[in-house]
Amino acid sequence: MQRGSRRWSPPARSAWPSSAVSGDIRIRWVQRRSWSRPSVVEVVRTKILGAGIIGLSVADELQRRGHAVTVVDPAPGSGASHAAAGMLSPSAELWHGEETLLGLGRESLALWPAFARDLGVPLHDTGTLLVGHDAGDQQQVARQVALLRHHHAPAEELDDGSVLLPDEASVDPRAVVRALLARVPVVPVDPGGDHDVTILATGAVLPPPYSSMVRGVRGEILRLRCDDPPPRTLRGWVHGEPIYVVPRADGEVVVGATSEEHDAAPVVTAGGVLRLLTAARLVWPALDRAELVEATARDRPGTADNLPLVGPVAPGLVLAAGHYRHGVLLAPLTARLVADHLETGVVSPALDPRRLLGGDR
Ligand SMILES: Cc1cc2nc3c(=O)[nH]c(=O)nc-3n(C[C@H](O)[C@H](O)[C@H](O)COP(=O)(O)OP(=O)(O)OC[C@H]3O[C@@H](n4cnc5c(N)ncnc54)[C@H](O)[C@@H]3O)c2cc1C
Repeated sequence: MQRGSRRWSPPARSAWPSSAVSGDIRIRWVQRRSWSRPSVVEVVRTKILGAGIIGLSVADELQRRGHAVTVVDPAPGSGASHAAAGMLSPSAELWHGEETLLGLGRESLALWPAFARDLGVPLHDTGTLLVGHDAGDQQQVARQVALLRHHHAPAEELDDGSVLLPDEASVDPRAVVRALLARVPVVPVDPGGDHDVTILATGAVLPPPYSSMVRGVRGEILRLRCDDPPPRTLRGWVHGEPIYVVPRADGEVVVGATSEEHDAAPVVTAGGVLRLLTAARLVWPALDRAELVEATARDRPGTADNLPLVGPVAPGLVLAAGHYRHGVLLAPLTARLVADHLETGVVSPALDPRRLLGGDR
């Protein structure tokens, strides 16, 4: 890494495919298929708006690679990352038509052990148990297993009808954010100054003209303290309602989550809490004795195709947003993708934000 250079410039033109250079910040617009990484990468001066798990993970990776980073957020860690259960569950959370997300999730899941170790945050890696309450719910479990088998994802059917997804894990996202904030300085107000690239990592609210690329999907979630927590994440259905129960090492149990499209500020509703507790106690009866510690609502940053937006939208402007239900899972992968993009120009077509803008790439 060449340190001290103040201007970011792309790799030598000869290394780029034709039509690769666009605008004053030269960011490649299509995926490079056979890229050999340049041996010398110049320092990129970045400004990151948003200090949720995504903005902070990107900042940490850029700092690690020697780039200059300014992170701006008036309320670091207060968005969806504050609510998230922290399931690292590409399989349990797989929906029909989301095969790309499964692949990305599995790729990012593989990065988590090293990422967590580096941050000093414990990883709960005892897998996920899929459970169904009534006959219809058990059919839903069977459908999920069939979908996973179709995609060669590991799923072990147990004698009691539940299904173990052995390679899944969970983490406390608040602990992750705390660890990242200890390494990444954040300022509340944009200090100005020159930057080569601005990275928008503002979660469910993107500034104009990109606002419509992300919508808020409200999620209500509960935190309880339980003397008999489940040994691993339980993910299932109760009378058709999806529910999860995520244990932490300290006895905290997270129960989630509702999902509702809306355009008002996210609030905790009586109906949401009632539905969650009713379903959760059927999945794990010991929760009847648990202390209800917290009820939280935040907006998940949803996109039109449920895939994140990671890549350029304009010269000098990169999005790292729209991670919807998987922002915790996808944080280490997103950090790498953004840093790789700034160093090489590579963009994953599936995540390229311009797919939602239409027009010529
Ligand atoms: C109830 C619930 C449960 C979830 N469970 C899981 C889970 O188990 N596993 C999983 O992988 N994902 C989960 N998610 C999804 C995950 O929380 C999100 O995808 C992820 O937190 C998004 O991170 P982010 O950094 O993009 O956004 P956020 O965490 O929302 O952070 C955005 C930040 O941007 C700041 N900001 C906003 N506007 C500006 C501005 N103009 N300038 C500067 N800063 C600004 C905000 O203050 C905030 O700190 C869950 C989400 C919810 C709501």
